[in-house]
Amino acid sequence: MIYLDNAATSCPKPREVVQAVEQALSDVCANPSRGAYELSLQASRALLRSRRAVAGLFGIDDESRVIFTLNATHALNLALKGVFSARAPERGAHMVTSRLEHNAVARPLATLERRGVAVTRVPCTPDGTTDPADILAAVRPETRLVVLTHASNVLGTLLPIAEVGLALKEWGIPLLVDSAQTAGCFPIDVEQMGISLLAISGHKGLLGPQGVGALYIAPGLELETLVEGGTGSRSESLEQPAETPDRYEAGTPNTPGIAGLAAGIEVLVREGVAAVGARELAMARRLRERLAQIEGIRLYGPANGTPAAPIVPLAVEGMASADVAHVLDREFHIAVRAGLHCAPEAHRVAGTLETGLVRLSIGHATTWADIDAAVEALTEIAGKPAEHWLKNWEKMNVR
Ligand code: PLP
Repeated sequence: MIYLDNAATSCPKPREVVQAVEQALSDVCANPSRGAYELSLQASRALLRSRRAVAGLFGIDDESRVIFTLNATHALNLALKGVFSARAPERGAHMVTSRLEHNAVARPLATLERRGVAVTRVPCTPDGTTDPADILAAVRPETRLVVLTHASNVLGTLLPIAEVGLALKEWGIPLLVDSAQTAGCFPIDVEQMGISLLAISGHKGLLGPQGVGALYIAPGLELETLVEGGTGSRSESLEQPAETPDRYEAGTPNTPGIAGLAAGIEVLVREGVAAVGARELAMARRLRERLAQIEGIRLYGPANGTPAAPIVPLAVEGMASADVAHVLDREFHIAVRAGLHCAPEAHRVAGTLETGLVRLSIGHATTWADIDAAVEALTEIAGKPAEHWLKNWEKMNVR
C-alpha cells in the first residue's frame, strides 16, 4: 500500500515511536505526578522529557507553558474558548481569521459568534494567498485575538505568520497559530514569529501516535480553563491550580502517547526539520510538475515554485473526487483523501465546494517510488473515461 494521506496523520510511524509507546506501557505504566514511588516518578519524567522536546522544537523557553492535549482540535478549542469565554460579556469583542481554517477553528469560532464575538474573515485569492497587510488592516481596537492556520490543509498555501505575528506583538494582540500542517516540516520559532498561542498536532508531521497534541501558551497570557479536575497538586483547594501546566491539564494524561511524541520529535531533531521538510517539498514539487503534464488533471493551490506545505490537491476531469480516491485505493492501492477535508471555506475559496478535491499529501515515510507510482496511476485514471472505472461500483459519498 502506498500512503499519501499524511496531512490526515503520518503513517507508518517510525520504529522509535512504536518502541517508545510500548516501553511506556510495559515499563512506566503508573500515573505521573500522583505518587512519590519510583514508577510514578518515572512516568513524570517521561512527560517532562516530552514537554522539553516540544519546547525545544518550537523555541519555547519555559517548558511548563507546553500543555498536553488530545490533538490540535483540543488545543485550538482550549485557546479560542479560553481567550473569549471570560470576555464574552464584553460586547463587541472581535477577532480576525483567514478563509482557510479547518473546522477545528471554524466550528469553535461559530460557537463564539453565537456568544456575541464578532469575527472578520480576511479575503484571499483562489489559491489561498492572503496578504499580511489585509490581515493587519482588519485589526480594530476591540480585537482580542488573531487566529491563523500556518498552512491550508486543502491547498497547502502558507500564511504570512511571522509578518503578522511580529506586528501584533508590538500592538499587544495575541496570535494563535494552527501548526497542524507545518510542524515537523517547517521550522517554527514562537519568539521569532511572534506567536503567543501555538496549537500542535502530535500525530501528523511530529510522527507521534494519535491521541496527543499540545498548546503553547506564552508567559503572561492566562486562559479560561476548558477542563477542570485532579492534577495531583494543591488537592485541598476547589480552585484549579494557577501554575502551568497543571492549570490546563486535569485528569490522567496519555502517558504512552506523550512518550511516543517525544520519540517522534527526537527522530525529527536527529534528521533535522529543515532537511525533512526540504525532502518532502522536493517530492511535492516533482509530483506537481509531472501531474501538470497530464491531460484531464487540474491542479489547485499555489503554482509550483511558491513555498507551500507538501500537499497536492487535484481534480480529474469528469470524475467525482470520491470516485478518484476509490479507484486509487481499489485498483492501485494508493491511499489519498477526497471530499472537503473538514475545511469547507477553503473549498469555497478554490471554487470546489460542490465537487471536493483529491488530496495527495507527502510525509516523512514517503519515497520517490511512491511519487512515481501516484503519477502512473493518475495518468492511467485520467486516460480512460470515468465509466471505465465506475461501471461496477456504487458511487461513494465520503463528505
Ligand atoms: N488544523 C488543520 C489545518 C488540520 O489539517 C487538522 C487535521 O487535519 C486539524 C487542525 C486537526 O488536527 P487534529 O487531528 O490533531 O485534531
